[in-house]
Amino acid sequence: SRYFTIHAHPEGTPERELFALETAELPALAEGEVRVRNTWLSVDPYMRGRMSGVTTYIDPFELGAPLQGAAIGEVIESRAEAFPTGTRVRHMGGWRDIAQLPAEQLEHLPDFDVPEQAYLGVLGMPGMTAWAGLNRIAEMQEGDNVLVSGAAGAVGSLAVQLAKAKGGTVVGIAGSQDKLDWLESLGVKAVSYKDRDADELTAALREACPEGFDVYYENVGGICLEAALNTLRVGARIAVCGMIARYNEATPSAGPDNLAMLLIRRARMEGFIVFDHWAHYPQFLEEVGPQVESGRLDDDETVEDGLERTPDAFLKLFEGANRGKMLVRL
Ligand code: NDP
Repeated sequence: SRYFTIHAHPEGTPERELFALETAELPALAEGEVRVRNTWLSVDPYMRGRMSGVTTYIDPFELGAPLQGAAIGEVIESRAEAFPTGTRVRHMGGWRDIAQLPAEQLEHLPDFDVPEQAYLGVLGMPGMTAWAGLNRIAEMQEGDNVLVSGAAGAVGSLAVQLAKAKGGTVVGIAGSQDKLDWLESLGVKAVSYKDRDADELTAALREACPEGFDVYYENVGGICLEAALNTLRVGARIAVCGMIARYNEATPSAGPDNLAMLLIRRARMEGFIVFDHWAHYPQFLEEVGPQVESGRLDDDETVEDGLERTPDAFLKLFEGANRGKMLVRL
């Protein structure tokens, strides 16, 4: 098996050299174990947190051990009845070509007529995150005006489309012209945060939606949060999904100084972790699966080829190089 590991905890933006590609001989399968040839690997922003050596809601990566992440692959050897050779599975043994795992750590893929990598993106953890944040945390109602930051990413691009399907005005914040054009093509008003300060971004959001927002879906933090707070309607809800602008900060920057807007607008701000909502995954699949199958939802993705490119794909998340879900194809 070839796998990536790290031997130190990065400070600031990780260097490419942090990631070491290593090789290990896998032991013979024990009873109940399965060997999987991975076909798709997921890289996700939360992995940056696991590299820091600090326990948050999830354990840090162990230095020198294979990194972990969501992956899809095919069973090539099995000592577990439920997963015979040839079965397509999802599991957390990513960042490597061959994974060997106990059967309890494998999931069968749901059987929608979609490409299998959809179960790492629009019908996987990021999709579930968009759905849970919008419906269960922000409690979005029909006709609500919705603002989403990181709107052209894996989570954000589904959040804007789900909001659009039952919303009033939906505004997405993103960082490049290509992403703004894509969002506009989805019927979303697109606003750039690049080369703007919080006041300028506030003005751009007010222009896009003068009434203000009932829901803010937060993926970025920093000036996006500050501007969003300025544009809330009374009774607004903020779902705090992520704050990617902060993940590579060696020293934390000051937060927005207008949190009092929560008070003035009688708004609620709530963080969440998608895994706490996983019991609702079947409901999510039932609702969103058919829409992906029929092509009603645009699940654009950005693909890097080859195991060697996994760290590059991961680092590109922080440069905004992806439209939709960032994936590695093996
Ligand atoms: P994305 O597909 O959105 O990829 C990351 C994107 O973030 C980039 O394309 C880039 O887009 C934007 N970005 C990167 N750095 C910055 C920066 N410094 N300032 C502003 N924007 C930046 O990733 P995901 O959809 O997988 O994740 C989106 C967010 O959701 C993340 O914050 C992640 O941590 C969070 N998350 C939370 C979960 C939970 O359970 N709470 C579960 C899954 C994800 P651009 O070009 O627009 O800058």
